[in-house]
Amino acid sequence: MLNIRYSDNKRIFNLHTEGIPYLSVDLLDRLGVPNLFTTRYISYDPVTGTGIKGLRQAVMNTEDVAEASPVCRRNRNILAHQLGSSISMECITDQKHTNYVHVASKEDLGIPTVGNFALHRHYVDGVVTDIPDVLLTAFGGDCPPVYIVDPVRKAAGLVHAGWRGTLGRIPEVAIANMVVRFGCDPADIYAVVGPGICRDCYEMGNEVYDAFASEWSRAEADRILSKYPAVDADGKEIPGGKYHLDLREANRLTLLRAGVPEDHIEVSNVCTKCNSDVFYSYRSGRMENEQTAMLVNRFGGAV
Ligand SMILES: [Zn+2]
Repeated sequence: MLNIRYSDNKRIFNLHTEGIPYLSVDLLDRLGVPNLFTTRYISYDPVTGTGIKGLRQAVMNTEDVAEASPVCRRNRNILAHQLGSSISMECITDQKHTNYVHVASKEDLGIPTVGNFALHRHYVDGVVTDIPDVLLTAFGGDCPPVYIVDPVRKAAGLVHAGWRGTLGRIPEVAIANMVVRFGCDPADIYAVVGPGICRDCYEMGNEVYDAFASEWSRAEADRILSKYPAVDADGKEIPGGKYHLDLREANRLTLLRAGVPEDHIEVSNVCTKCNSDVFYSYRSGRMENEQTAMLVNRFGGAV
């Protein structure tokens, strides 16, 4: 049953069940920007409540490349077509948990991939573009994508924001590139922190707190990391508990710092681990696959 549990009643996403099912972000839909975030489902019938799971969208290891690459590529092309695009327009990155962002050029589009990745051309975790109709793709199995669009300059960015990219403020790096390269004004930008792991599910070591406290500030670290009661493998209480990281709030703070207006930011209320029956989730055990996030640099509406 493709039954998603939301952490509040806000309508952030729309569910589409035609073809390969996906969520779209309501804010981006209203701007007329084609976008998606996939699930485990290959197909789903909302009338009978039944579907086929096991969608392969990302290549998970090097042994798998030869067999999985064509399957993932074919599935991404179906998804692209569902957005009125094609993987001939796709720009796809390495995703190495960096905060590096690439400015897409025409040479980057639709090139054959090794695994998920465009011949390892770019050691980056985000792409920005002002080329019309470019399709940006990112993967995540708990790490949220951050969708960034500027309807005035008609530019878009998509970043993969795991904890390391979040620490490196990758959404701000993307926006800085959009400002410098495309003349964007952050006041015109809309941004969405997409589905990913929630604070309750995201236990972290002390070193993550220390990293945020030194690279951000102690006050910010205290805001986005909180101590939860915790037990060790034998059920014994861990003195002081364990830190939990709020990736949603961390990336929202970074978007505000980059100058995006508060009322232009949406934050996911869908956790991939709380919904691990619907979404692939790295933290829920075996990493079987990842979700695909897609964003097309096209604007057909107005908020
Ligand atoms: Zn959760």
